[in-house]
Amino acid sequence: YALDQPNDPHALDSLRAWQRALRDQFPIITGNPDLAYLDNAATAQKPRAVLDAVHTYLTTTNANAGRGTYPWANRTTQAVEGARDRVRRFLNDPDPGTSAVHFTSGTTEGLRAIALDWLPRFLRDGDEIIVPFADHEANISPWREAERLLADRGVHIRVLPMPYQASSGDYDHIALADLAGPRTRFVAVTHVHHVYGGDMNVHRVRRAVGPDAVICLDAAQSIGHLPVSLAGGGELPRADVDFVVFSGHKAMALPGTGAVWARQARGPAFVPGGWSGTPNTVGIVSLAAALDWLDAAGVERIERWTVALAARFTDALRHLAAYEILGCRTSLAADSPVQRRKGVVTFRHHGIPSGDLGFILFSHGFMVRSDNHCQGSAGESAGSVRVSLHVHNTVEEVDRLLSVLASLG
Ligand code: PLP
Repeated sequence: YALDQPNDPHALDSLRAWQRALRDQFPIITGNPDLAYLDNAATAQKPRAVLDAVHTYLTTTNANAGRGTYPWANRTTQAVEGARDRVRRFLNDPDPGTSAVHFTSGTTEGLRAIALDWLPRFLRDGDEIIVPFADHEANISPWREAERLLADRGVHIRVLPMPYQASSGDYDHIALADLAGPRTRFVAVTHVHHVYGGDMNVHRVRRAVGPDAVICLDAAQSIGHLPVSLAGGGELPRADVDFVVFSGHKAMALPGTGAVWARQARGPAFVPGGWSGTPNTVGIVSLAAALDWLDAAGVERIERWTVALAARFTDALRHLAAYEILGCRTSLAADSPVQRRKGVVTFRHHGIPSGDLGFILFSHGFMVRSDNHCQGSAGESAGSVRVSLHVHNTVEEVDRLLSVLASLG
């Protein structure tokens, strides 16, 4: 397998050296050479730079933010405000002077803040919101709750049934365009699916729903895994979305961290309650350090690495008759019309329940996720096992996992 475009024979070697240097920066990974962490979609491991930033902050600066006037308090306030700017830069925000960045405990809290605080102020009577059916529960239940709260105003949900076309694995923009109508004012989409590993083209989502609808992007599985550029530039199209919601802890910051980026141009300002409470200062410091680390590592290369590992894994797994792979197909051919799977592969063994398979895999040193992955009402993934990759994972780990899975066939 080539780990890059077939016409670039040197890319594999250079990526391997780059990857090895990055892997060495994760103490929990290098400290456990017999274990392979393959549950990165649940939460990511932390590089030393993040641990160091946390240690430095807590041993030199720790105070509350936005209150005191002594140096530690000032430095903490600056760290929190600086982290807002760090999020903007990470997202290549075209309007850093007007956007809002709000820190949360994760994607779930961010989506709930939008649904329950901002959405009721934004929607007009009779408006429709489009919500995915098969996505993470965190991107379904807040909108359902908002619909219940706003039922007497005629607000209702239209459900996008399956995100990916069965035939091609492509995100189903056509179904989305069919659902969208003149009353569509808000659309909740997921950037990279946490079970299927498919992504979608934000550009085409905007075309499908029209210029006026607010698009809210659940970027829990994409931040740190692939470049997200609001302004666009280079190879990247502009991401014309209004909210970007993500979990810091999945992007190598501490647990209990996350952020909402909000464009302020469309509708009321996004200023959820809680500005006056004490923020998770050390978590916010860790988030800024994690985004520094990811930018320096190169998110575009992280994407190439994890996509190549996932393709290697999927292409071999599909030849093992005992297993069924869920969701979008994948291909290594650079010019293939089939969408490339990101670093998430979910599968089922026809004879072994997912909990048992998880235990068996751990007895060989592999940490994977079992069961339904919070997929909510769709439930299609119940009884499956998910392998989710990040930059510290290696070709050798994938190959060892494949041989264990093959031995269970
Ligand atoms: N959205 C997606 C796509 C996810 O994968 C997850 C977590 O797995 C979430 C939302 C919820 O994130 P958190 O648990 O950090 O709130």
